[in-house]
Amino acid sequence: MENNEEIYYSILQWIVTEGIVNEKGDRFDFKDRGFLLDILTDFNSNIVVTACAQVGKSVTFSIKTMFALKYLRFNIIYTFPTDDDVREFVASKFNKILQANRHQFMGMDTDSIERKEVNDRFLFFKGTISKTAAISTTADLLVHDELSRSDQNTISTYKSRTKASKYKGRWLFSNPGSERDELDLAWIKSDQKEWIIECPHCKDRHYLTFPESFNLEEKIFVCKECKEPIDDDVRRNGVWEAQNGEQKISGYHISHLMCAWITAEEIIEDSEGDPAYFHNFVLGLAYSPGDMSVTKSTILDLWTPKELTTGNIFIGIDVGNIKNYTIGSEKGILAIGRFSKESDLDDLIAIWKPTAGVVDAMPDNTFAKYLCDEYPWMRMSYFMENNNNPQTIVWWGENDKSDIVYSHRDRILDRMLLDMIEAKWLIGCKADKNFQLFIKNFETLRRTKVTNNKGIERFVWDSTTGEDHYVFSTLYYRLAVMSGGAGVFMSDADLSDKPPVIDADNNYDVSTQFAENNE
Ligand SMILES: [Zn+2]
Repeated sequence: MENNEEIYYSILQWIVTEGIVNEKGDRFDFKDRGFLLDILTDFNSNIVVTACAQVGKSVTFSIKTMFALKYLRFNIIYTFPTDDDVREFVASKFNKILQANRHQFMGMDTDSIERKEVNDRFLFFKGTISKTAAISTTADLLVHDELSRSDQNTISTYKSRTKASKYKGRWLFSNPGSERDELDLAWIKSDQKEWIIECPHCKDRHYLTFPESFNLEEKIFVCKECKEPIDDDVRRNGVWEAQNGEQKISGYHISHLMCAWITAEEIIEDSEGDPAYFHNFVLGLAYSPGDMSVTKSTILDLWTPKELTTGNIFIGIDVGNIKNYTIGSEKGILAIGRFSKESDLDDLIAIWKPTAGVVDAMPDNTFAKYLCDEYPWMRMSYFMENNNNPQTIVWWGENDKSDIVYSHRDRILDRMLLDMIEAKWLIGCKADKNFQLFIKNFETLRRTKVTNNKGIERFVWDSTTGEDHYVFSTLYYRLAVMSGGAGVFMSDADLSDKPPVIDADNNYDVSTQFAENNE
């Protein structure tokens, strides 16, 4: 410790007395982020925070880490998923905070990314997915940022590093992923603190949840008990209360619902996009979809003899030895079918005159290329993940790739199947043998859990028989609908903000049609 320097025992006293600022050089303002105060001052050796995106958890833990390094004299290992994440975080956040509070961190090196030192205590930053070995030195405190996107095996090996320490600290925080990773397991064992608000009308005390705390028509927050409106000040003035009794692990759950600067309308809009994104990054909850499936009765419920034409025609084509197509309007499917000769499709196009179309780019890229060259409104589909922007599940290629539409396979399937279950569009094709096959194809879909070699779980859709061609021709048709036909994609928030088109009188028996068309 340098001469004439104060020693602080309280992080709040330190922040206030020394004028500690954030990475932008601003004083900490807890008006809208009151829920971070208890997390900031919590020095329990076991902390877990399961949180939505963009609420300031990384900066909160950076400040705590700096305090722990300098005043608690801890040796600390601080991890991120990858070495690139470490570089990005240290350059854009950690070093900026150090520089903005230079008077407190004189002589601390900002050149070295991996290693920081103050008064013989060190702080190591390290990626869990790294070309170099895990840090082998012992430490008092492990800080695991973005835990759910980190290598779960490496995280486990770090546990042994604190054996020699009295404190044996383990602070975990992350946007959650799927169930049963290290974050979720720690959260389950924790005291599970939720942000409890008090309704000013009926005085009921509870925490906000989706959709129970929403009036979806008026797009406002309401009390779960009396359904009266809840204003932003009520959301600000919550208190943390354990929901799981007293436990060794101190747990906090942060969602966008407690963020006064985020409106009910924004949250409702997010709920209509990618379900995994909504759970992980908006609700701050692990997402492990149950056994969602589109059954025969789901599809029969969507079937209607009503007119679904709108003037726009969209086509989706799945390519294989036999090619499947789905044709429809924004409102629903008008026709489905199969063909083997490529020229059959030209005839189909001449009859229907589509507004927009999407064709599978695989396995036969020549056919897809031919179609895109021949028809300027045609796009080919590639499945891909957009790691930089997890909210985006559909996006356009640019420049020489402008005839390509990219989408996240499993998440766009999730969205389409959910839209079918919620009846966001209908089916008006003939109830014939093709329609029976269509139903069968959807019935073979299963969502299965896979775990990669980093121990990270995810869910993928596959078909028990491999016969899922109508699922994909229908997916491509819905992608074509999303394109709007003018070559401009709607933002993904618009993917499904349509109210259900099914109504009480959509109650038809297709069995007669089946009988008639299957003669
Ligand atoms: Zn109430």
